[in-house]
Amino acid sequence: MTPSRVLFLGPPGVGKGTQAQRISERFGLVVVGSGDTIRREIRDGSEIGRRAAQYVQFGALVPDEIITGVMLAGILKLPPEQGFILDGFPRTVPQAESLDGGLGRVGRQMTAVVHLTADDARIVARMVDRRVCSNCQTTYNVRSSPPRVAGVCDHCGHAVIQRVDDTEGVIRTRLETYRRQTAPLVEFYRRRGLLREVDGDQPAAQVEAAIIAAMSRCGEGE
Ligand code: AMP
Repeated sequence: MTPSRVLFLGPPGVGKGTQAQRISERFGLVVVGSGDTIRREIRDGSEIGRRAAQYVQFGALVPDEIITGVMLAGILKLPPEQGFILDGFPRTVPQAESLDGGLGRVGRQMTAVVHLTADDARIVARMVDRRVCSNCQTTYNVRSSPPRVAGVCDHCGHAVIQRVDDTEGVIRTRLETYRRQTAPLVEFYRRRGLLREVDGDQPAAQVEAAIIAAMSRCGEGE
């Protein structure tokens, strides 16, 4: 059986990271997340991190030539039988074409694209309350799912912080960036027959069930 090679596509804050975690644990998939990769490069002070930081803090996309190489390397080093979920990459048509090309050269291709949708106002409201562990990246929401001790991660005890780009102004810029540069990927993948729509505006367990149903329909055409 072909291993699942799935992209989670959708605006920032729609729940891609949370769902990628849940689905990967259930099906033994590896999550390859571009936001996490970039934040790690920034923390490490690498050349890529230094170049990326100036874009991330303002909610702009890091240029394709900075991100594509590092993401493709991470994806292509996985063994052929290892399924994966891409969270946040590709985010532009040129990135998607590079991904297609890179996978194609080793005889692989994506098997599904899950398009998660939600209302902008709900996204902004949810994201300003989002906090993340500075160590293990577990995500919290100060209103709906806070850590047991304020500011301390339940899992590893490190500080729970607000991302620099989770302020209201930057969130609005990120949504605009999504609409302009990433939303065209919906058509790109629809034309390839890979797109599956999932309403992200539901409780996480329901979104998870909908994603599982959508993934099981893949390969059947639209
Ligand atoms: P995320 O955690 O996925 O919301 O990503 C945080 C930030 O990292 C984005 O706002 C962008 O600045 C940058 N970023 C993440 N993935 C990409 C990508 N595929 N292409 C360009 N920039 C990206």
